[in-house]
Amino acid sequence: MAEIVLDGVSKRFPDGTTAVHDINLTIADREFVILVGPSGCGKSTTLNMIAGLEEITSGELRIDGERVNERAPRDRDIAMVFQSYALYPHMTVRENMAFPLTLAKMPKPEISAKVQHAADLLDLTPLLDRKPANLSGGQRQRVAMGRAIVRDPKAFLMDEPLSNLDAKLRVQMRTSISRLQKRLGTTTVYVTHDQTEAMTLGDRIVIMRSGVVQQVGTPQDLYDHPANQFVAGFIGSPSMNFLPAEVHPDGLHTIIGTIPYGSRPRRLPREVIVGIRPELFQDTRIRHGASFTGTVDIIESMGADKLAYFTFESGATTFTAGPQVVARLDPKSPIREGEPATIWYDPAALHVFDPTSGASLT
Ligand code: ATP
Repeated sequence: MAEIVLDGVSKRFPDGTTAVHDINLTIADREFVILVGPSGCGKSTTLNMIAGLEEITSGELRIDGERVNERAPRDRDIAMVFQSYALYPHMTVRENMAFPLTLAKMPKPEISAKVQHAADLLDLTPLLDRKPANLSGGQRQRVAMGRAIVRDPKAFLMDEPLSNLDAKLRVQMRTSISRLQKRLGTTTVYVTHDQTEAMTLGDRIVIMRSGVVQQVGTPQDLYDHPANQFVAGFIGSPSMNFLPAEVHPDGLHTIIGTIPYGSRPRRLPREVIVGIRPELFQDTRIRHGASFTGTVDIIESMGADKLAYFTFESGATTFTAGPQVVARLDPKSPIREGEPATIWYDPAALHVFDPTSGASLT
């Protein structure tokens, strides 16, 4: 069992900065939880409080039901993997991986067996006698993981462990970490600012902004039911389109025309923000769908899909924000830059947000 509970946990730095505000989160045994959000949102501070590297200002942290606020990092039985890998340059891969066990005065044969087991898991056996300077970035990253694994800790804490790798290697390592975590079944808390990493790795995602948790849920939950405009815009690529709208009896008046809102609850404020995911749009007619016609400004061919950007004349309307709409279309779509195109969508699938609080109204 390794359940981690944050019960009203906050962090205030001596200069008055509140980096984390009142987090309530239960991370279940064996769960893979991602902390994600923009730079400065408090994710590293949260991880460091779990690790014991940062003191908790208020609230309680429990591991397996025990309060550990005052417990030293080495006594929490947690292994941390950093972005910098933090390997010792003068030690071989074998010595680096063995280091936490040597420190704990474990008998040599046992250390040797554990290092070998981790090396097998991580495909590091042929590299055991090399020094870190003679390894690639991806290999160093695996050694850092190995050093965490040999300890067989209650939990892994990982702070942007892939951010020093190139894009292709990052994708490979992502799937390896996912496989490894499932195999070992070790509770893992993983920090990233990358929404794709969060969506693909996590059993659950915690989205933070300015020290405050915005929403906790499975990747699909967050994608389908974002609690607010911030979450809606953070999850998904390209980001959701947001259109200011006026609420009228015949529908929502937006820059792309009037959107019927059918069976939706009618008690909306006079002005709202409509959210439409780029992948909701298509260039062929949808039964019972709504449509808009616009001029295709730019096309980006991505291989697997085609992004079409539409710009709207905003001068003639009272709308001030975002006159651009992006549609993610099939790569075979015949639409062309500079030509008008009609785009279809299902109005039942759009989101509505409060323009002041950002809260979802759908
Ligand atoms: P990043 O992705 O850039 O690492 P983050 O989400 O991990 O960001 P934190 O490093 O947790 O963010 O920082 C959260 C907030 O706390 C930021 O506003 C940061 O400036 C502030 N902060 C961090 N450490 C200190 C400190 N020692 N003293 C004062 N403020 C701090």
